[in-house]
Amino acid sequence: MSEIRVDLYSDTLTRPTSEMRRVIAEAPVGDEQHGEDPSVNRLCAEVVELLGKDAAVFLPSGTMCNEIAVCVHCRQGDEIICDHTSHLIHAETGGPAALAGAMIRSIRGERGVYSAEQMERAVRDGSRHAPLTRLVCIEQTSNQGGGTVWPLDKIEEVAARARDRGLLLHMDGARLMNAVVASGVPAKAFAAPMDSVWIDLSKGLGCPVGGVLAGSEEFIHEAWRWKQRLGGAMRQAGILAAAGSYALAHHVERLAEDHANARRFAERIAGIPGIVVELDHVETNLVFFDTSGSSISAAELTERLLARGVRVGAMGKHRVRAVTHLDVDEADIDFAADALKAVLSKD
Ligand SMILES: *Cc1c(COP(=O)(O)O)cnc(C)c1O
Repeated sequence: MSEIRVDLYSDTLTRPTSEMRRVIAEAPVGDEQHGEDPSVNRLCAEVVELLGKDAAVFLPSGTMCNEIAVCVHCRQGDEIICDHTSHLIHAETGGPAALAGAMIRSIRGERGVYSAEQMERAVRDGSRHAPLTRLVCIEQTSNQGGGTVWPLDKIEEVAARARDRGLLLHMDGARLMNAVVASGVPAKAFAAPMDSVWIDLSKGLGCPVGGVLAGSEEFIHEAWRWKQRLGGAMRQAGILAAAGSYALAHHVERLAEDHANARRFAERIAGIPGIVVELDHVETNLVFFDTSGSSISAAELTERLLARGVRVGAMGKHRVRAVTHLDVDEADIDFAADALKAVLSKD
């Protein structure tokens, strides 16, 4: 394989900066399983404050945050409502079914965002024959939807109607901080209507590992039981948590640079014959574009770009995703856009 010069495959690719590595090296640590790791406790307190919840728990991944939330909220046979593009459906190896015994009823939203009416139509009628609708999930930002920011008023509307029906609410906040920076809405406001919400540290925030799940004291107490059961309870995890605290202090505002780079990339490729990219749909750090106007598939395009030192992801027959992050700058974006132009002009 040729050497990758610009990697736009995912924002999970970021490597800890030298300053973050220094903080990791110097982190005070203890036994996390016993609540004795000061760096983990500090990070959880910071996330509690950030999200305006009562308690939080540090977990090894965002996937575990989602799965533990589902396990705490749902009983066997319960139904979860979420958009049809959700990570929960496509990328967690059937966890809701396997771990919680829960079913999923998906909604066809608009770029990952569905309306309160759509949500209401998906709620079961409570008959003896139907599963029991239990949980409503919102993915902020919507990944497969294109990095779409759920607007606060839409969230509040969905939440109000869900509450009326006695349902619980969960936010997959893998990129919640991208939504915060893009919209100017505080994380607390997005999190307020939620029974559970988490942020990923290992995406745009640039940490090596981890996610933090927040909710009520009672919810987190139960979440801890699942953390222990799944083997997610750790020991001197402070070396990971310290990176999280560092990222919350230093890597949030800079997400705006990722968003600007995503926009720059989209604008630069928009004029390339054979490529369709909806500039209005580039709201955060994800750029989806379509190759159906050219004679090559997304997979072929990906291969040819790789030969030029640029990696992107094929997300469908003609759908390609490019993700900006901490480790790419403007010059990289221009290099990648030029490579794409070269690949398609040869076609
Ligand atoms: C990446 C991602 C997850 C899972 O997070 P990991 O930390 O990779 O396990 C969940 N939801 C969404 C929307 C994601 O993009």
